[in-house]
Amino acid sequence: MAVQLHYDSDSKLTLTGLACNCGGEHRLPTQDIYVGTGLIDRVPALIRKRGLGRQAVLVADDNTWPLVGEKLTGLLRAAGLTVLPCVLRRDGELVPDERACGEVLLTMQPETEFLISVGSGSITDTTRVVAVRTGKPFVCIGTAPSMDGYTSVVAPLILRGVKIHRAANCPEIIVCDLDILRTAPMPMVVSGIGDVLGKYIAWADWQIGGIVNGERTCTVCGEIVVQAVNKLLDHIGDLKSKSEAGIRVLIEALLLAGVTIMVVGHTRAVASVEHNIVHYWDMMKLLKGERQPPHGTAVGLSTLLVWPLYLHFAKEDLSRLDLADIRRRRLSRDERTAWLLEAYREEAATEIMRENPDDFLDWPEQERRICQAQARLADLQAVIRDLPPFARILKAWRDLGGPEAPAELGIDRAMLNRSMHAGKDYRTRYSLVKLLDECGLLANYLDDYPLLDVTHPSTRS
Ligand SMILES: [Zn+2]
Ligand SMILES: [Zn+2]
Repeated sequence: MAVQLHYDSDSKLTLTGLACNCGGEHRLPTQDIYVGTGLIDRVPALIRKRGLGRQAVLVADDNTWPLVGEKLTGLLRAAGLTVLPCVLRRDGELVPDERACGEVLLTMQPETEFLISVGSGSITDTTRVVAVRTGKPFVCIGTAPSMDGYTSVVAPLILRGVKIHRAANCPEIIVCDLDILRTAPMPMVVSGIGDVLGKYIAWADWQIGGIVNGERTCTVCGEIVVQAVNKLLDHIGDLKSKSEAGIRVLIEALLLAGVTIMVVGHTRAVASVEHNIVHYWDMMKLLKGERQPPHGTAVGLSTLLVWPLYLHFAKEDLSRLDLADIRRRRLSRDERTAWLLEAYREEAATEIMRENPDDFLDWPEQERRICQAQARLADLQAVIRDLPPFARILKAWRDLGGPEAPAELGIDRAMLNRSMHAGKDYRTRYSLVKLLDECGLLANYLDDYPLLDVTHPSTRS
C-alpha cells in the first residue's frame, strides 16, 4: 500500500502505509507534527498536551522574534508558562556556532524544562544540539519552508570556523503554521525546493548502492521521498505564488524527508553526492571566511550539476572497460591521501579519512564492484530511467528563479571543479560518482562536462 498522509482535526500529521519488507529495523515517528493555519495560537495547548512542563527557553533571532517569537512568548506567559527569551542578535547572518549555542545554554536556568526554537535551519540546529547536551526536549516552530532539517536528528554546526555534524534529537513537537511559512521570502522557498529536488539523486544513489554493494535499500523510504518530490513538481505554479496549497506541499515534502531519517535512523534517503558537493562548498567558503550559500539552493544547483552524469551513464557500455588499465591508473593509498589533503585541506581531510576508513579500496574489492556493475548494468540504467526528465527539473528550477550558474552562489570555477571530483570522497556512502571513479570513468565524464576544466584529476591519466 502506498504511503499516505492524513491530518486529524488538530492538524496533526499521521502516516499510513509504512509497512515495508526491506528487512531493516523501522521506527515509527513519535513526534507531534502539525501543519495547518492558525496554529500559533494553539501552541500553549499543544505543549500542555505533550506534557513538556511550564519552564521554557525560547530561541529566536532578529527576524523571527518580531515575526512570531514575541507573540508566542506572550501567549505562553498568558497560559501560565515561564518563558525566557534568547534572541540571537547578529549584525550579519546567524550561524549555528559555539557562540549561538553558548547563548542558549547560558539563558537556561536549572529549572528550565524544555526549549522552543522559532526559526529555520540555524536556530533549529543550535537549539537541537543544546537540547540534546542538556537532556531537554524541544519544540520547533518552523518559520520558513527552506530546508528539511526540522525533523532531522543531526545538527550541522560550525566549531572554530569548521563545519561539523553532531548527532542530536528531533523536536518533540513541530509546528508548521502555513500563515507564517507563506511570509517567507521567495529565496527561502526556492531553497526548500532545491533541498527536495536532491532527493531524486539520493534515492538513485541508494539503489545503486543496493545493486553494486548489496546495501539494504528501504523501499518505503524511497517511496516517501519520491512521492513527495513528484508532488512538488506538480505544484510549481502554486509554489511561485506561495499559495497555501503550494507551501503545504513543500513543507510536507521537507518534513517527510526527515521522517525517513526517523524511520531508518540514517539520512540515506535524503542526502548523497549532491549534498557532499554542497558540504565541500560550505567548507571552502568557511576557510575563505566567506558566507556559505543557502543550503537548499546550493543542493538544488548541485543536483542540476550532477544530473547529466546520470544521463551519460544511462548510455554507458561497461563491457568496453579495460580492467588492467584501470588497475594501472588507480591511485595508491598515499596518492589518495595526498589528493584528499589537497582537495579538503588538512583538518577536514584528516577527519574524513578517520570517519571513512574503508574508503580506500584494495584492488580485489574494486574489481568486484566493476564486475558487479558490468553484470547488473541493465538494473543500474533502469534506476536512471526512473528519474523524471531532466528538462522538467530544469524548467521548474528556471520558473522559480533558482540559480543555474555556480558563480551566482559565489562558487568559482576552481571550487566547482574540485567539488565535482571531491564530492565522492566526503563519506563512504555509495553513489554513481563513486562507481564512475572505480570504473576509471569519472575523469572522462567530467572532461566532457560543459562547465568544467579538469585540472585536478582524481585518477592518473
Ligand atoms: Zn539538505
Ligand atoms: Zn524498509
